[in-house]
Amino acid sequence: MKITRIETHVCHARMRNWIFVKVLTDQDGLYGWGEGTLEWHTRSVCGAIEDLASLLIGEDPTRPEHLWQMMYRQHFWHGNGIVRATAIAAIDLALWDICGKAAGLPCSKLWGGPVRDEIRTYCHLGGGRMEDFYETPVEEARRFGELAREAVEDGYTAFKSMAVPPTMPIEGRKAVRFAEAAVAAMREAVGDDIDIMVDCHARPSPAMGLQFGKALEPFGLYFFEEPCWPEALDGLAQINAALTTPVATGERLTHLEAFRHLFERRGCEVCQLDLTHCGGFTAGRRIAALADAHRIALAPHNPQGPVSTAASLEFGFSQPGYIICETVHADVPWRQDVVDEGFVMELKGRTVKPNTRPGLGIEINEAEVKKHPFEPEVLQRVFYPDGSVGDW
Ligand SMILES: [Mg+2]
Repeated sequence: MKITRIETHVCHARMRNWIFVKVLTDQDGLYGWGEGTLEWHTRSVCGAIEDLASLLIGEDPTRPEHLWQMMYRQHFWHGNGIVRATAIAAIDLALWDICGKAAGLPCSKLWGGPVRDEIRTYCHLGGGRMEDFYETPVEEARRFGELAREAVEDGYTAFKSMAVPPTMPIEGRKAVRFAEAAVAAMREAVGDDIDIMVDCHARPSPAMGLQFGKALEPFGLYFFEEPCWPEALDGLAQINAALTTPVATGERLTHLEAFRHLFERRGCEVCQLDLTHCGGFTAGRRIAALADAHRIALAPHNPQGPVSTAASLEFGFSQPGYIICETVHADVPWRQDVVDEGFVMELKGRTVKPNTRPGLGIEINEAEVKKHPFEPEVLQRVFYPDGSVGDW
């Protein structure tokens, strides 16, 4: 079997342009789907995929490990920058989809799964509607409570919020009090049986991240995400050691070495590897093994499109340390028109049973994708009150 063509199909979904990759083979009707969505870098990733294709055309697609080595190590520059890592991931997922289809097995079965009967999922406040999740002002505690109640009414047992505002490296009590009030409103709205997560989006400095984390301890968060920059390993380790709330991070790391440094320093209890950014299943499985050696849980980052979701779930059915999968469902009203999925999500509890179709078990509706061509993503820029640059 040989790879004959690699195509990118871009689908503009408001917040993000989903980048779907289709790897075609010389066997009629046998192809694989991957995804390499990287908001604000859509054209760069498509270009990187085009560059990588020159290494792969004519190669056997059922050798993903070998081809991953080629993509990562050949042409001199290693594939650990975010653009190329995302391009490699997208192709790698598609190659494994082909492997599963060629074997007639879901990907998780290729890796010894399924290791569980179902996967728990969580949503964003607002189900992924950009305005609700990213733009609800943290001063509006009551709105956080309303959205939390909606998430539970939608069947979720866990949800994530952005209840920590952008702050300068050091600030007084006001921002921390707002965060406390927002989380208190959510806890009040949903009670103790529902799991609440707070994503700091790496906005705080380590010192501010520690203040937020300490202030939110009484609310028993399921995890506390990106409390400072992912590069600030000392800060992550300090915050993780100081809190009983588990720290989560890893969505911006692109390669095994970076995860090794994070785990060695105990910078987190929950590893949020993103299969579309950290080298796909081939590298993701190595990262998962390393996390397992440290007893660090897996909860993949997945606010992207439907191929990313299928991949994150397929991965979860093969990884014992996997605890929950991030999902969005209300980012665009036509999300389900773009994909035919092999898994079924129970609306009550929002759990997913294993996919039984080969590969990733999905089909992308290319005609539907064409209805939503590339558009530049909405700019999301943060400036502090004094005009200096902050983190979104
Ligand atoms: Mg995050």
